[in-house]
Order: sequence, then structure tokens, then C-alpha cells
Amino acid sequence: MQVFKEKATLQKAVRAIKSKGKSLGLVPTMGALHKGHISLVENAEKDCDEVVVSIFVNPTQFDNPEDLKKYPRSLENDLKLLKDSQKELIIFAPNPEELYGDKIASEQFDFEGLEKVMEGKYRTGHFDGVGTVVKLLFEAVKPDRAFFGEKDFQQLQIIRKLTQKAGLPVEIVGCPILREENGLARSSRNERLSTEEREKAAFIYETLLKVKRLFGIKSAASINSWVEKEFKKCSFLKLEYFEIADIQTLKKINKKEKGHKYRAFVAAYAGDVRLIDNMALNN
Ligand code: AMP
Repeated sequence: MQVFKEKATLQKAVRAIKSKGKSLGLVPTMGALHKGHISLVENAEKDCDEVVVSIFVNPTQFDNPEDLKKYPRSLENDLKLLKDSQKELIIFAPNPEELYGDKIASEQFDFEGLEKVMEGKYRTGHFDGVGTVVKLLFEAVKPDRAFFGEKDFQQLQIIRKLTQKAGLPVEIVGCPILREENGLARSSRNERLSTEEREKAAFIYETLLKVKRLFGIKSAASINSWVEKEFKKCSFLKLEYFEIADIQTLKKINKKEKGHKYRAFVAAYAGDVRLIDNMALNN
């Protein structure tokens, strides 16, 4: 495993790979790695000759400075986890100045409304920060393919839009959500929950499964109000939003239309830990 903190040395290694005609995959992460991230690495290893995993806690995508401060950082542990990978991975772990230069700030993007709903509505400027860092990482690494989790489905669709609008020569690959045994979506934030809280947080997954069953027989409006009532009964979780949305526009639906695909999206707080999840409703 090679670990690079500087763009220049990373790019030398990338040039050597490309000169041999090999394909390069990128798995962008913010570290505090868990099995969800590892599943992305495995997908990348299957699809590409060489794989770069970036580990970078991106300051511009946090709307809350406390959240940025509290975000777990554990490079040594992350490297230990990645050592067991099939391939000799390349790790890119720059500091903010190395990646951004002097000006650590977001570019402003127009993602045609995808950035205005759900996470974008509740986390001001979040997707400008995501778009900025993804562009910088693509410029630095020049991958052929980049792998993102459906766990952050809105982010995945926004990155697809960014790539398409900016004409970036990178194929975006979406990977399924990896869950804990009880169904809770794996997340670095789960580390901040006690064992009991982690058990209780499976409520989110269980509710999504019920939503999927109801989707065939009930209207979106009646499912919405059912979900809101269920969350009110669950004193442990505070619902921030629940939406059933079209996967292309991410707009909340009133009526199902033939040929469209839909997902249910949830954000909820367990104490001060913000959890998100989503599920495909029709395949
Ligand atoms: P993060 O480090 O949280 O920014 O996540 C890095 C990448 O891992 C993103 O593309 C996430 O969507 C993906 N990811 C995080 N958790 C999971 C999970 N449980 N299953 C699949 N992908 C995940």
C-alpha cells in the first residue's frame, strides 16, 4: 500500500499506472472507515486495475463547525482496515491546504434543483462543498471510474449531474447500501451511538421496509402521514424529514407515474447524532 499526502507524488504514481494502459478507480471517503466503505473498495477492485482511496475530511461540506470538529479522524485505523484489501491500494490523504490551495472555500454550483431538497434544504451549502471537493479529487487523481454509495443517494445523483454538466471524463458507479445485522445503514456516525441506541436505530430501516410494502397499495400522502405518526411514537428518534421522491428529479411525489422510479428518504436524530437512510421502492 502506498500512502500519499501530496498531489505531486500521487500524480507521479497515477502517470505510471496510465502509461501502462491500466484503468484507475477512485473511492472518495472522509475516513473513519467501516464495512460500507470497504464494500465500495471491493467494487472498485473488481472493476479497475488499480484503486485510489482518498481519505479527506472535507471542511467545506460541513454547515456546522461543531459537526466538523466532532467528525472522527482515525488514519492509522483506516490504513489497517485497507491493508486486507485484495489489491495494493493507493491512499491519498492530503491536508486541506494541499487539496484546496490557499482558499478553502466552495465553488457555487447549479445542480438543477437536486441540491435544493432534503439534505440540501437542511444543510445549507453542503452540496457546493461536496461538488467542490469531488472536482478537486477528480482533477488530482484523474480516475476512469469513481465509486459512491447509495447510502448518500442524493449525493450520488448530484455527482452524476456534476460530471455530466462539466463534461468530466469519469464514469460514476453507484454501490448498494451496506447495513448492520439489524438493518441500520453503516455509517461513521454509528460509532457515536451506544449499543442500545444502535439497536433502537434499526427502527429507521424497519420503517423503510414497511414503506416499501405500503408503496404498492397506498398513496404517497397517506404513507407520509403514517411515517410521521410512527416516528412520533418512537421517543428515541426525532424525524427531520421523510420523503418519497422520483430518483431522477429527487422531487417529492404526489402521484406515482408509470415508468418512473422512486425512493424513500429519511433523516432523523438520535440525540445529537444525525442518521440518514433511503430505500428503492420500485425496481
Ligand atoms: P463518507 O466517508 O461518509 O463521506 O462516505 C464515503 C463513501 O462511502 C460515500 O460514497 C458513501 O455513500 C459511502 N458509504 C458510506 N456508508 C455506506 C454504506 N453503509 N454502504 C455503502 N456505501 C456507504
